[in-house]
Amino acid sequence: MKIERIETTLYRIPLATPVEAASHGVMSEFDLVAVRLTDSGGGDGCGYTVLNAGHGDAIVPIIRNVFSMILLDEDPRCIERMWTRMWRSHHYSGRGGLVSFAIAAADVALWDLRARNLGEPLWRLLGGHSPAVRAYAGNIDLNFPQEKLLEGVQRSLDAGYRSIKMRLGKPSLQEDVARVTAVRELVGPGTELMADANEAWRPDQAMRAFQALRAFDLIWIEEPIRPDDYAGYAHLRAHGGVRIAAGENLHSVAEFTALISARGVDFPEPDLTTCGGITPWMKIAHLAEAHGLPVTSHGAHEVHVHLLAAVPNAAYLEVHGFGLEKYIAQPLQMKDGLAIAPDRPGHGIDFDWKGLDRYRID
Ligand SMILES: [Mg+2]
Repeated sequence: MKIERIETTLYRIPLATPVEAASHGVMSEFDLVAVRLTDSGGGDGCGYTVLNAGHGDAIVPIIRNVFSMILLDEDPRCIERMWTRMWRSHHYSGRGGLVSFAIAAADVALWDLRARNLGEPLWRLLGGHSPAVRAYAGNIDLNFPQEKLLEGVQRSLDAGYRSIKMRLGKPSLQEDVARVTAVRELVGPGTELMADANEAWRPDQAMRAFQALRAFDLIWIEEPIRPDDYAGYAHLRAHGGVRIAAGENLHSVAEFTALISARGVDFPEPDLTTCGGITPWMKIAHLAEAHGLPVTSHGAHEVHVHLLAAVPNAAYLEVHGFGLEKYIAQPLQMKDGLAIAPDRPGHGIDFDWKGLDRYRID
């Protein structure tokens, strides 16, 4: 069996409401890069990655000009071999960064193709632990005034979430504390609350913030400082008094190895769209397990629900607010605060390609 056809497309999709997270600025649109594969047996698979608007232009040529040559005529069952060849093709200029986003789109398509050919859902093919995964609402709300912040939290409660994330990183710590106070008052003590600083702080500012936020029983504070300050993470984790989630800005297994080895994280948070796809995501999840840590996810919840359902150390699925579900036939199924991995073959995502077509730019 051989891979016969590879189609790569780029879409720039507007968000319903512009949203802000610290370090990202206000986002009003995002790029979706999709890769569709067909094999000689008539099988097909689809992968995708998600980037800041404008960044898709940089990775589409890598997939079309380099990865296509690596994947065409390959046996679609030999994913590790193809992944390694894609990684090595950019060893000099890559080993992470944008190249990992490019590999991710192809890698997800390879796993989807393999699972569909076997008639298995990804979660069972990749390990098959439990299809029900605890999920939280990953709200992006730093730019919202407090009233709108609380409206979003209420919407998440009304939708059945029992775990909700809010954003930190206002110009003053007092303002962050006031917003956390208001959210905690609204949700009460029985709802799990996470907070994401998106690298808003220097280490000294982060320590002050941790001390001020200890009283709110947060499940975690996410990305308090820049992602590659592993010693800084270890110091905060040892002395800050609040557990830490991090990983969406790490783009390789090696970077996760460094953070976990430094004892800098409580909830490793790989994102398959940023770390090179399902192949490295599973390695990071197992690396976490070997260190006695849970694993959580960032973004791309339609695929991550399978990966978390595959492993025994799943903590939470982030249900992300980019609204991709508008273009997916069967969006994520939720029940009692749990996300349920579908039993359809592959990842089970049917994109509405016609609906997406109006946003296609390449
Ligand atoms: Mg985050």
